Amino acid sequence: MLKSLIRTVPHYPHQGIMFRDITTLLKDPAGLRDMVARIVARYQDMQIDVVAGIESRGFIVGTPVAYELNLGFVPIRKRGKLPSETVGRDYELEYGSDRIEIHVDAIKPGDRVLLVDDLIATGGTAEAATKLIEDMGGIVVECCFVIDLPDIGGRARLEGQGQKVFALCEFE
Ligand code: 5GP
Repeated sequence: MLKSLIRTVPHYPHQGIMFRDITTLLKDPAGLRDMVARIVARYQDMQIDVVAGIESRGFIVGTPVAYELNLGFVPIRKRGKLPSETVGRDYELEYGSDRIEIHVDAIKPGDRVLLVDDLIATGGTAEAATKLIEDMGGIVVECCFVIDLPDIGGRARLEGQGQKVFALCEFE
């Protein structure tokens, strides 16, 4: 059900890319509720201290999950977007590099963190986020995604680094 609500947009943002668009899932009342409920059910007994979401669709997925778990939410943002003091991590993209940042006071040493994003492809973004959380002394309990693209290998990459990975659905 949930998977059928995700729209595929061919050739976005580049020729040859099949973009998996969650806006159609988010717009569907039952789909949105099901997405959040399934994530909450998985994590409600895992002693999570804080939910961290990756800009920007990770904010949309992660915030209602944190709310339902009675936890707080912290944003991991692209370079220069957070107003207070930050720590960051650079990571490689297909062409060039990027940087994600988090507020220095967002995660305390020993915090058990649930990392959330909408989709994992190469795993580069999530890898940088897990390292950032660990730089701050946080423990990444699991990396949670709505969509995994297993053929691209991000999940295997993270699991090879000892991370746990969960996704609600997969696309080839
Ligand atoms: P990765 O770093 O794993 O290669 O890429 C994952 C990041 O790119 C995520 O933050 C995700 O939001 C975005 N992304 C890449 N491809 C897609 C896609 O097809 N659909 C969506 N919704 N996001 C994508």
